[in-house]
Amino acid sequence: MTARFQFQLAATDGRARTGVISTPRGEIRTPAFMPVGTAATVKAMMPESVRATGADILLGNTYHLMLRPTAERIAALGGLHRFMNWERPILTDSGGFQVMSLSGLRKLTEEGVRFSSHVDGSKHMLTPERSMEIQRLLGSDIVMCFDECPALPATEAEVAKSMQLSMRWAQRSRDAFGDRPGHALFGIMQGGVTRDLREESAAKLREIGFDGYAVGGLAVGEGQEAMFGVLDYAPGLLPEDKPRYLMGVGKPDDIVGAVERGIDMMDCVLPSRSGRTGQAWTRRGAVNLKNARHKDDPRPLDEACTCPACRNYSRAYLHHVVKADEIIGSMLLTWHNLHYYQDLMQGLRDAIAGQRLAGFVADFHAMRAAGDIDPL
Ligand SMILES: [Zn+2]
Repeated sequence: MTARFQFQLAATDGRARTGVISTPRGEIRTPAFMPVGTAATVKAMMPESVRATGADILLGNTYHLMLRPTAERIAALGGLHRFMNWERPILTDSGGFQVMSLSGLRKLTEEGVRFSSHVDGSKHMLTPERSMEIQRLLGSDIVMCFDECPALPATEAEVAKSMQLSMRWAQRSRDAFGDRPGHALFGIMQGGVTRDLREESAAKLREIGFDGYAVGGLAVGEGQEAMFGVLDYAPGLLPEDKPRYLMGVGKPDDIVGAVERGIDMMDCVLPSRSGRTGQAWTRRGAVNLKNARHKDDPRPLDEACTCPACRNYSRAYLHHVVKADEIIGSMLLTWHNLHYYQDLMQGLRDAIAGQRLAGFVADFHAMRAAGDIDPL
């Protein structure tokens, strides 16, 4: 355990990296996948179950928590870790992205964003300074800069203008964050799919100086090819000795492609959200448990998976509880999906450490191409 926030690279394989982020609340093995605990809970999971899947760190959403139950209330109750019974590291987003996607009546100015709550219509203002204050009140270990992500489709001029605003907000975030030993502040690169803009953004962030760097503005509907196009050069614009975080990604093949391109951290609601809609992610691709083919199938979802859903229940049972809208259906499939994601991350970490990533990735794609086991 360390009192400081540190990143230690252990091995590389091509552009892929594996290492450890040390924080006073524990270590984060990279590449890392962070389950999303939007409203101080990973839906359908107990925190100890989330840990049992292999997660080292969770993500919390500033926008949701500031509205309900409020950052001030969480601070008075001892901070987010204690409030939600998760003692390990937590990363919080800045609220910027969700203000733009969820709130009503937004007004964007140089100062920040004024908006009304999607919960009760109450009026709020988020600025870089307020975002830093909220994330401090929550007790977040990794704090994200307040930034703006332009709504798509956007012209290159709009993307440029938005990126430059985000860079001014990055400086204000840095100034407001101050010196907080043991806590990290990450900058967020913007610039859409335009290389010049990404370079300008990266140069500005490096000049300000952060504990880690996120690649923002991707996974917003541009498609995997365009995203990988940016990831072919964007991580290389960032300091090698700091963690690189790809926000809001993704599907298993997005994750593998991002790790191959030098990304160290990712988060996505997909495994938990899918788990509540009857969709499982497995080594053989996506499996829809609602499908009638599972009705009489006594076999596990994935015979190689060691999660409780696969060890103790049949496809027939999972099909039944999903169809009947039973709560345990969401619980079991969320557990399985998070377990599969963490298994994938462990496989990637081991493959990078063993200099056999190319073989691992080839097997990953071959297994998915083969598809689900044949129906009985
Ligand atoms: Zn499983």
